[in-house]
Amino acid sequence: MNLDTYKKKSPWILHYNCGSCNGCDIEILAALAPKYDLERFGILNNGNPKQADIFLVTGALTYRSRARLIELYKQIPEPKVVVALGSCTCTGGVFRDMYNVENGIDSFIPVDVYIPGCAASPELIIDGIIKAIDILEAKTNEKEKVKKDFT
Ligand code: SF4
Repeated sequence: MNLDTYKKKSPWILHYNCGSCNGCDIEILAALAPKYDLERFGILNNGNPKQADIFLVTGALTYRSRARLIELYKQIPEPKVVVALGSCTCTGGVFRDMYNVENGIDSFIPVDVYIPGCAASPELIIDGIIKAIDILEAKTNEKEKVKKDFT
């Protein structure tokens, strides 16, 4: 059994705040804490992009954080899933069209799951993460299939 198989069972998350008011970030902590217990799916919030499977991004993307967002995305190994958490990350939200804000991260990196809300509730976050796990599994299976076809 290779490492990719384990990824499906315990996806590790890299959380990056690219300009959030912290509202959505607090909801992530609530989702991980015992009341909602997102960790029951084997999820671990890890600060290392090279060990991450799911890139969880919050906040309106500021000009200053744009390069860092792209760099972190590149450092996460394939297969990976990107989740835009909260209205700001999806579209710019209440900060849309401000002088120092890019509108939505999907202009710079591909997004697999959009979680709406200001702030996004723990229920919506759990729903989005479950979708992300399904997408991660599909991408992992595809990668394994390609590997088999060439071996
Ligand atoms: S969506 Fe709302 S709560 Fe979340 S970072 Fe933006 S302003 Fe804050």
